[in-house]
Amino acid sequence: MSRAPWQREWQNAIRHPATLLERLGLDTALLGPARRADQLFELRVPEAFLERMEPGNAADPLLRQVLPVDAESDDTPGFANDPVGDHASLANGGVIHKYQGRALLIATGACAINCRYCFRRHFPYADANASSGQWAEALDYLRDDPSISEVILSGGDPLSLNDRRLRELSEGLVSIPHLRRIRVHSRMPVVLPSRIDESLIGWLTGTRLTPVMVIHANHAQELDMRVAESLQRLTRDGVRLYNQAVLLRGVNNDAQTLINLSERLFDIGVQPYYLHLLDRVRGAAHFEVNEGEARALMRALAAVTPGYMLPRLVREVAGEPWKVPIEWTAV
Ligand code: SF4
Repeated sequence: MSRAPWQREWQNAIRHPATLLERLGLDTALLGPARRADQLFELRVPEAFLERMEPGNAADPLLRQVLPVDAESDDTPGFANDPVGDHASLANGGVIHKYQGRALLIATGACAINCRYCFRRHFPYADANASSGQWAEALDYLRDDPSISEVILSGGDPLSLNDRRLRELSEGLVSIPHLRRIRVHSRMPVVLPSRIDESLIGWLTGTRLTPVMVIHANHAQELDMRVAESLQRLTRDGVRLYNQAVLLRGVNNDAQTLINLSERLFDIGVQPYYLHLLDRVRGAAHFEVNEGEARALMRALAAVTPGYMLPRLVREVAGEPWKVPIEWTAV
């Protein structure tokens, strides 16, 4: 069977630090560190994302999210392999059931891009994803708990599964009477917008489940015209769109950058939803923005942005029944 354009693009993603640096005309001094850190968590960048980076700029905010660097080997106290307690919450068949009424299904371990700050960079996907022959087990878990009304497909990136696998899954999901919504957490619409094709939209909007998609963009520069067009196709067909961003040092820890992100998201029909403090995963300490700085940034954002464009500043804390809001109004 021939592969869809998005699958070919994904297949051709950049996997070697030398290629990335060469394509952007960057200093080869970055190559040694990039190769070392690539051993810890491999580089992966689709062309469509690379095209939005500024050639020659080692500080480009998109590049910083994907370029392996030496700081990833630092062993910083307080930074762990599983900072949000996902392993402890893992139920049968790749289901993570942390929050009342919603259950998250690790649909696959694969992603179109590897983000250096990812809180799942050490997650044992091989043992814990529902698609490795375990749909039945995951579906049984959801069926047995009538308090679950929303299933969240996560990963990895659930949209890295092909449409046949997604349809198999949704056929099982619609047969569970207490499920009302299907929520997809995906960075694909941003990093590989060709993924949002006719077939995918048909899958997402073609069942009785209300479709919700939470995308992940951290900087307005990620949201170019191709991304905007893909997202607008989704909203036109009734998919509600939200964005979650991570507050990252050297990427978006400045008020104007956050303002631009909120405005751009709103312009293209996406509701800014969460601004996460970094999950303290081993290898990502250099991205951390402390709470004091985060609060000051929220105040600066709120001073010039309508309330409906303000994301909620949150931190995920292992064992808590919801994402913990960070109070930022008091100076
Ligand atoms: S796309 Fe999401 S899950 Fe995949 S590496 Fe990036 S942050 Fe992690």
